[in-house]
Amino acid sequence: MGYIRLLLSIAGLCLLSACSGPNRLGSNNLGSNNLGAGINPNNSSTGSSHTVASSVMSKKTPLFTIRAVTQTTSASPADRLIALTFDDGPRPYVLFGSKAVRPAPGLIDILDQNGVKATFFVVGWRLTPKTWGEPRHEEDIGVTCIDAAEQLIRRGHELEDHTYSHLELRSAEKKNGEQWVMRDVDRGAQAIKAITGSQPQYVRPPDWIITSDARRDLEQQGYRVLTISSENPTALRDVNSLDYLCAGKAVGCPKPSLPDAVLQQVEQREKKGTFTHILAFHELSTTAAIMPRLISDLKARGYRFVTLTEYMKLVGSKPGETVKQAAVTRPTSVAALGR
Ligand SMILES: [Zn+2]
Repeated sequence: MGYIRLLLSIAGLCLLSACSGPNRLGSNNLGSNNLGAGINPNNSSTGSSHTVASSVMSKKTPLFTIRAVTQTTSASPADRLIALTFDDGPRPYVLFGSKAVRPAPGLIDILDQNGVKATFFVVGWRLTPKTWGEPRHEEDIGVTCIDAAEQLIRRGHELEDHTYSHLELRSAEKKNGEQWVMRDVDRGAQAIKAITGSQPQYVRPPDWIITSDARRDLEQQGYRVLTISSENPTALRDVNSLDYLCAGKAVGCPKPSLPDAVLQQVEQREKKGTFTHILAFHELSTTAAIMPRLISDLKARGYRFVTLTEYMKLVGSKPGETVKQAAVTRPTSVAALGR
């Protein structure tokens, strides 16, 4: 089986080299439309940094989870899956395109044109009436975040919970107690439910930071908490695209380009036998701009794009159940994941 995977890997690489050319869109061309210098994609009033930190796991791994992952890791190219996710929105100027000096294409149209359904981890405070974003950093295109969220649903995308406040939860818990964290997640969920009519199932904590207690309690309430921790099987661990480093002044944007760096991460995971990936991006103009090339390169590599719900149906266990690494994956440092 390892030999077959190696062959598939080589085939994928051949496809990739045939299809990828120069960065056609230029990952940073639209940066100035974005949020200006010193942008913080976290976008909450507190603006926590996107420092990668480990989140904490809970205790047991259901056997069927491991089995599902094992099956996936030995999948044929037909089973190659990508769940594309975008945090921190809805940001209307990113979703529908900037009308500023340098007009930018809208992320929704880009996804539609490529036949891709994605999952948006939205911030609850944006889903309040008349809110269009952060005046300091964002462009008002005359569309509210609620309108944008409704449009996402109409076009077949999913909304999931990135908390209400977008505060970093471990610090917030230290300051305000765990119940505050639970309420913040729940407030975010209620804001989403008011639009979609259904309870979100997934929570991605800002910067992936959450205490083990809060995580366990959220899981007991039926949420599934996304993580970059190496304690999760690779297929159920977010791939941190580092796209926020390409916004604004693009300090630290991965080289040679963001799409290349993401493809490299995918390739690294393939080498370890994982052909299903949850890719974590942000609603940023610079990220929208690289999507056509990234999507086309991943398709050329044999990948199919699915929503997170479908992904979890095919790869993961039931929502709310704990997933912990067992013998499926080797521990990987958080620093290594961030590359
Ligand atoms: Zn965020």
